[in-house]
Amino acid sequence: MDLAYTPKQQAFRAEVRAWLADNLPRKPLASYDTREGFEQHREWESRLFDARLSMVMWPAELGGRGCDLTEWLIFEEEYYGAGAPMRVNQNGQLLLGPTLMEFGTEAQKQRFLPRMAASADMWAQGWSEPNAGSDMAAITSKAIRDGDHYVLNGQKTWSTRAIFADWLFGLFRSDPASSRHHGLSFLLVPLNTPGVTIRPIKALNGKDAFAEVFFDDVRVPVDNRIGAEGQGWNVAMATAGFERGLLLRSPARFQYTARKLVELYRANRASADRDPSIGEAVTQAWMDAEAYALSAYHTVGRLARGARIGAESSTNKIFWSELDLRMHETAMRILGARGELLEASEGEANGWLEGFLFAQAGPIYAGTNEIQRNIIAERMLGLPK
Ligand SMILES: Cc1cc2nc3c(=O)[nH]c(=O)nc-3n(C[C@H](O)[C@H](O)[C@H](O)COP(=O)(O)OP(=O)(O)OC[C@H]3O[C@@H](n4cnc5c(N)ncnc54)[C@H](O)[C@@H]3O)c2cc1C
Repeated sequence: MDLAYTPKQQAFRAEVRAWLADNLPRKPLASYDTREGFEQHREWESRLFDARLSMVMWPAELGGRGCDLTEWLIFEEEYYGAGAPMRVNQNGQLLLGPTLMEFGTEAQKQRFLPRMAASADMWAQGWSEPNAGSDMAAITSKAIRDGDHYVLNGQKTWSTRAIFADWLFGLFRSDPASSRHHGLSFLLVPLNTPGVTIRPIKALNGKDAFAEVFFDDVRVPVDNRIGAEGQGWNVAMATAGFERGLLLRSPARFQYTARKLVELYRANRASADRDPSIGEAVTQAWMDAEAYALSAYHTVGRLARGARIGAESSTNKIFWSELDLRMHETAMRILGARGELLEASEGEANGWLEGFLFAQAGPIYAGTNEIQRNIIAERMLGLPK
């Protein structure tokens, strides 16, 4: 087995590293949960796109470089290793993008993917409803066919950054007589369509990070449907696989946090060593982040040999979300009381608190960890329902 990078991979790494060194924003961007920060991130992502570094795995004609998964891991290592901004158009680029590649028509791919890669169109995910979260098959929002349009009525909730986004993809019940996962259609909705009302919901950090979206007789062209009418569930399950699997949270993001945690510990040893379990937690976090990275390379190798990861992506999701939580809890223990003053604390301490608050959501979004454990029990271990 040869574990070394090829010359081509090394050259790609060097190119990405050099470009980031020349182009990284000098000042950290404002939070993308604010209008100002959202637009700053859009601008940054359009620069990445101009360098064909926004979606490196996408084919050249869609603005990418046709990289394989190993090259993507290398890109992510350089990107997060350089402390580059978090990606704001994840819902589009990482979830809807691969879904469109698999289920979209040629015309839909040409229409949506290049603008998505450039973050010219920002996307929100519209799946959850007040009574349909973990149990997504309970969706009641309707899309009733009227000639070459659907007429949408209903409500979505917890839609990340929908108040700033341009488009929403969602599941709607197109067969009113249907139940559960039958009769749903996967639709793309421009958020400026008459009849769409978006109300912000504050997250733990006090910012308008989510929204509820109301649809009152919203007309959407049939051309905006992905996959066949009534087959939206199958399309959405593929999207969910992308979300929980490798793409949404590459290991590099957690390796970066682990390295920052080691630095934080070293800079604060005088107080952190008051409790030996803090140092142990830092070491464990670093090892876990490295283990996650090695496991990702293992998975990528298997995928390259034709394997499919399927239900196994649930193990990934549990691992990264719990690791992120543990790392941020450890940082808060190192910082002590000063880490808890969100507005008053500045610089690094504030960054850790923001991260700590967001980490609480990891076991919930992309399907709760309880649901992932059910999936592992039933589909991987074959345990009874
Ligand atoms: C930061 C964040 C961003 C999000 N972004 C989006 C977004 O952009 N678009 C979107 O559509 N949604 C989004 N969501 C919503 C998210 O998908 C839902 O919160 C999640 O699916 C859980 O649904 P729920 O909140 O209705 O909780 P419920 O489904 O009501 O679950 C409540 C609790 O019961 C547990 N539970 C439920 N059913 C079972 C079961 N069968 N077995 C064991 N335990 C069970 C759950 O694990 C959970 O602990 C986001 C959520 C968060 C936190």
